[in-house]
Amino acid sequence: MANVEAVAARGLNPLRRLHQALMPDYNRAATLYWWGNVLLGMAVLGWAMHRLAGQPASVLWQVAIGTAVATVAGLFPLRMPKAVNSFVAGEIFIFLVLLLHGPAAAVVASAGEGLVGSWRTSRRWTSRLGTPAMAATAMFISGHALQAVQGGLKLLGLHNAVTLILTCMAFSLGYFLINTFLVTLLAPLKRGEPIRLKGYFGGLGWVAISCGGSALLAALLFLAFEKSGAGVLMAAVPALGMLLTTLHYYFREQAADQTAHRDRAEAAEREAEQAALHMRELRASEQRFQSAFTHASIGMALVDYNGQVLQANPALETLLGREQAELLGREFAGFVSGADAAVLAEQLGSIRSGALQSFTLELRCRHRAGSEIWASLHASVFAKGEAAGDDGAPAEPRLIIQAQDITARRQAEARLSHTALHDSLTGLPNRSHFHQLLSQAVARATVDRRRHFAVLFLDFDRFKLINDSMGHSAGDEFLVLVSRRIQEAVRPGDRVARLGGDEFALLLDPLVDEAQAVQLAERLQRALAQPMQVAGAELATSASIGITTSRFGPRSPEELLRDADLAMYKAKALGRARHAVFDASLHARASDRLHIEGELRRALDARQLSVAYQPLFNIASGALVGFEALARWQHPLRGDISPAHFIPVAEDSGLIVPVSDFVLAQACQQLKAWQGRHPGFGALRMQINISGHDVAHPAFGPRVRRALDLSGLAPEHLTLELTENILMERLQQASESLDEIRSLGVAVSVDDFGTGYSSLSYLSSLPIDSLKIDRSFVQRLLDGSKESEIVRAVVSLGQSLGKSVIAEGIETAGQLAQLRDMGCEMGQGFHLARPQAAERIEALLDRLAAEPQLVPARAFRNSRPLHLAVVG
Ligand code: C2E
Ligand code: CA
Ligand code: CA
Repeated sequence: MANVEAVAARGLNPLRRLHQALMPDYNRAATLYWWGNVLLGMAVLGWAMHRLAGQPASVLWQVAIGTAVATVAGLFPLRMPKAVNSFVAGEIFIFLVLLLHGPAAAVVASAGEGLVGSWRTSRRWTSRLGTPAMAATAMFISGHALQAVQGGLKLLGLHNAVTLILTCMAFSLGYFLINTFLVTLLAPLKRGEPIRLKGYFGGLGWVAISCGGSALLAALLFLAFEKSGAGVLMAAVPALGMLLTTLHYYFREQAADQTAHRDRAEAAEREAEQAALHMRELRASEQRFQSAFTHASIGMALVDYNGQVLQANPALETLLGREQAELLGREFAGFVSGADAAVLAEQLGSIRSGALQSFTLELRCRHRAGSEIWASLHASVFAKGEAAGDDGAPAEPRLIIQAQDITARRQAEARLSHTALHDSLTGLPNRSHFHQLLSQAVARATVDRRRHFAVLFLDFDRFKLINDSMGHSAGDEFLVLVSRRIQEAVRPGDRVARLGGDEFALLLDPLVDEAQAVQLAERLQRALAQPMQVAGAELATSASIGITTSRFGPRSPEELLRDADLAMYKAKALGRARHAVFDASLHARASDRLHIEGELRRALDARQLSVAYQPLFNIASGALVGFEALARWQHPLRGDISPAHFIPVAEDSGLIVPVSDFVLAQACQQLKAWQGRHPGFGALRMQINISGHDVAHPAFGPRVRRALDLSGLAPEHLTLELTENILMERLQQASESLDEIRSLGVAVSVDDFGTGYSSLSYLSSLPIDSLKIDRSFVQRLLDGSKESEIVRAVVSLGQSLGKSVIAEGIETAGQLAQLRDMGCEMGQGFHLARPQAAERIEALLDRLAAEPQLVPARAFRNSRPLHLAVVG
């Protein structure tokens, strides 16, 4: 910009260039006006000089002194507090010069005073020259006017002290008006604005007084001078100077005080403004909150610290089935069921005491209709600012309660946990439930050494015969009948469980003595010996019962069950319908396990272990997805030993580590080999069973990595199966290993899902990729609706959590069809393909590769003759 102007200026004539440099903001009109004024002022000054030149030196001295005093006085303007204009005392002396020596002298004095004044107040040449020029012109006009008026008055004989004072005052006003007019005209000209006289005349009241005052003083001094000579002036001028100086400083101090006062007032005003702004923001946030509160889909209530409802939203009304009026003013705990209300009250107490800021509870609420609903309740202290009242004062502390209906989830969980803990056929506690009950009994007996209990293990003598000869449904009917008879025979506090098949267990707690347990065993045998009607036939049956009591010594729940089991075998060996009590001789036999352990150790070296593979299929397409690796033990003398038997021994003895390493290494190598053999099977995956002991093993992660490294299998093709209970019980200690494994890219699957105690809601937080529905659910799919409901719930839950669901133990086409309808993603089972040796699988893969049109699931199913017998 500056460059452009410079270039433009270079082409202009020198005068224009000077104009550009000195008065760039002056347009044509303003320039003309300024030059006019300056030239006029110079002409006036020239005339005045010319007139003064003929005067005696004493007059010149007086003019010079008057001008000097006026200039000095101009340095101390009297600025009255609150007033816009100031009283310039210098004018008194200029007026005095005028009265003493006429307009020419006064023109010089006012031009001089104007020059010094503007020199001091402005740095611009235009005003340094313009101001004195205009003052000279104004004085020239008004001074002559005064002279003319006084001449007239003299002619009329009206010349006296009073008319002198009055005309003087009128003159001063004229002088001031002309001067100010000339000065103020410049600004609108420069801006090209119309000239408005209204603003110019606006503040004249004070100016009139100020001018009048100056003129009055000048006239009085003049009169005194006329009467008493120059001496008066000698005395009056310094006195006047002192007075004006004092006033100057006095007013300045006052103004400073006022400024401070004004600053304080402004600060207070700003504060008030900010408070108002804050209030507006508060109100806006309050409104936002109110709107969110009212329209929230989740039930919300504002309660005071005692739990009394102050406000409730429509969603809460719906949740509780109550109208607004029923909720307001009532205690929230009043809508909560008995025991849960106490828990709520306790938590509210913690908030009151300041120990808690918020809490979350799952509790039962009472719906108006009388039903019970489960709600997840979150309460938190409501920030005070948010709760401020209309006056902005902090309101009473409040709580905001959010309530969500979780009845459906709770019911599904309850169903699942009931199924997890109960045998679906008889409704009795199942094995894992019984295990829990035993743990509690052990704990009680540990605390109270005089307290004892007994465990009875009951097995029917001819159940297999009934099942095989009369069919499964007769077998089921039989089990239901005997379970009822057992329950009728025991005392109310005794617990009966069905462990599986025809095995039942009883817990007698407390126990007086061993004889009491023996008596119960005899009573049971009598009751069961009674003939019963099963499937239209009369049956007589008997059971063998093993007994152990806590008097034999402290043992874990597993050991207690094992000992009762051993006693039961002894009873069977004694002949049917007998009972036996666990004793020292049996104890010795328990060490048989140790035997197995030693053999397993040797088996690992002797290569008696192998791995069988059970194919996994995509249920919808029938495509082969992968395999589950299952350990096999071919014992040279005992024949095949089921993993269900030797894996627990391996776990107890620590041998599980080499067993798992063997299966891991074998299965990873095998899959890698198959992938290499047929590129079409590159996506297949391997699922390997992992025990809790493995996960707890400190080097578990590195072990898995080594198996992958050695085989060259990509981690994405490996899934580790962990049972639900391992995940639940060992999650804490295992989470690090699991994280490590998952970070490698290896997936984790929950095995036997539904048999543990995990709640569905917990599932989402588990570090898993897929879940396998336990085969006990799958196999009862067609029996009744309960299992299908659960399987359906698990499938849809899995889908919503983004975890794949695998159904295991599919034994019939009907089960498969039902799972397909439910949208279950993957499946395995005898109906699809049995676990088989690697060579068999390889032969089938070769066939599939050669005949791509084959549906894998069908190819495998038709391969029955190739099946390896399932062990155990
Ligand atoms: P699991 O993990 O539930 O394995 C599936 C079991 O179900 C296998 O029994 C398999 O043969 C059997 N199965 C497959 N389809 C069907 C079917 O349609 N109907 C029925 N009734 N059963 C079917 P298996 O091989 O006897 O293994 C028993 C258990 O031993 C396994 O249960 C697993 O918990 C454990 N196990 C097997 N191999 C290993 C291993 O290498 N490591 C560990 N830690 N445990 C293993
Ligand atoms: Ca498994
Ligand atoms: Ca399983």
